Amino acid sequence: MDAVPRQLFIAGGWVDAAGGGTLPVEDPATGERLAEVADATVDDAMAALAAADQAFPTFRTLAPRERGDILRRAYEVMTDRCEELALLMTLEMGKPLAEARAEVSYAAAFFRWYAEEAVRISGRYTVNESGTGRVLTMKQPVGPCLFITPWNFPLAMGTRKIGPAIAAGCTVVIKPARQTPLSMLMLGRILEEAGLPAGVLNIVTASTSGPVMEPLIRDRRLRKLSFTGSTEVGRLLIEQSAEQVLKVSMELGGNAPFLVFEDADVDAAVEGALIAKMRNGGEACVAANRFYAHEAVADEFATKLAERIGAFRVGRGTDEGVQLGPLIDEAQRTKVAGLVADAVARGAQVLCGGSRVEGPGYFYEPTVLAKLTPDSALVTEEIFGPVAPVLTFRTEEEAITAANSTEYGLASYVYTRDLSRAFRVMESLETGMIGLNQGMVSNAGAPFGGVKHSGLGREGGPEGIEDYLETKYVAMAV
Ligand code: NAP
Repeated sequence: MDAVPRQLFIAGGWVDAAGGGTLPVEDPATGERLAEVADATVDDAMAALAAADQAFPTFRTLAPRERGDILRRAYEVMTDRCEELALLMTLEMGKPLAEARAEVSYAAAFFRWYAEEAVRISGRYTVNESGTGRVLTMKQPVGPCLFITPWNFPLAMGTRKIGPAIAAGCTVVIKPARQTPLSMLMLGRILEEAGLPAGVLNIVTASTSGPVMEPLIRDRRLRKLSFTGSTEVGRLLIEQSAEQVLKVSMELGGNAPFLVFEDADVDAAVEGALIAKMRNGGEACVAANRFYAHEAVADEFATKLAERIGAFRVGRGTDEGVQLGPLIDEAQRTKVAGLVADAVARGAQVLCGGSRVEGPGYFYEPTVLAKLTPDSALVTEEIFGPVAPVLTFRTEEEAITAANSTEYGLASYVYTRDLSRAFRVMESLETGMIGLNQGMVSNAGAPFGGVKHSGLGREGGPEGIEDYLETKYVAMAV
């Protein structure tokens, strides 16, 4: 912990907040205080934006290979220091160490991927259809960016924005979630060690994100906002972004359906469901939120799922063998408990779990429920916890209608062995991502993102850098 910075990172220096204020960070497994970090004021945030703005003209001209090399070095350092980063993440966020290690490699993979993309930014040259003029396009960095990230993936939600931004030649102010600032501060130190020039990345930690961020969003020097978090806050930030007509990327909430057809390999579906539901304790935007199983396999699926989920070892993420850590805070635990209580009051059957775990920390039992009514809040709202509701369906059409009956459209999962059905269903699902016979969609080389109220833009893969590039067109008389 001693090596972890606690100050703001502005213009290449580590500085205290202007007012000297600090923000406590706690361990959700114990409720104990882990550290105090700087609590930025509006003046600090504006200083961070000024640094990003000043660094931009020089950074945009840095050779693409050099920008790529910085990212590659940061990838190597993250990989070498995986244990240290994973422990820090587990302490401030609660996820089991094995999952924290997986997040460190997932997060580092964005730096590796975009180290390779930095040297592949290109435009095009075309002869006009008339045969006389020419079309030339060039891709240029959009300019200073503001990133606001959530607590559930404290490193990866940052690197999948920072990686393409640096590759494209943009400069950045980033504000991590108040619950998990330490991982991002460590990442700042790593990028500093990797040779990132001063002012290219600025980190602002704050207890009052709304008032501290809004003046930046309304400042004409900012050119882009990328946000990962709830749909509610995303909507507010889109409104604020309208003033300067910012380019916006929004990775928002989800309500992922998980469909198990009668021809599916039920055991494989259970394995996939464990990943889709229980990764990150269910605190993932792509977490399976609602399971729909065909009535011919629903009992088998629900029973097997409850056996496996009910056997999860719950405990402090730092303890060996723990599979499920605490929820992030008491507010989240109260929300999850309320959703389960509502479903039970409407007649849902508890197959395992269903209660808070007594004692320190914000633990909730791994839970599977069956016989839910479709209007239960557990089905219509994003759960963000280790609770799996299983519903049944009779026809493919009914399954698709149920899956699409939400304002969200982030991820969905489909289990079937019938190729024609797989294509019919995939083409009908209103989500940005689909896991076909697999419970995991996250991949640094693939476009992550949603439709409907789940967001705008894509992160990862070749698509991910486009959000950081403007296309300039030159009409040439030849
Ligand atoms: P949240 O409340 O929206 O917070 C996310 C971030 O926004 C935090 O840094 C938060 O700062 C900041 N924030 C909150 N209010 C703000 C405001 N008025 N102005 C500027 N910034 C503000 O979301 P959360 O509860 O932390 O995260 C869970 C949500 O994120 C879920 O809905 C989940 O689905 C979504 N998510 C989406 C993706 C995706 O890729 N689609 C990935 C991960 C998570 P504070 O910490 O200070 O509140």
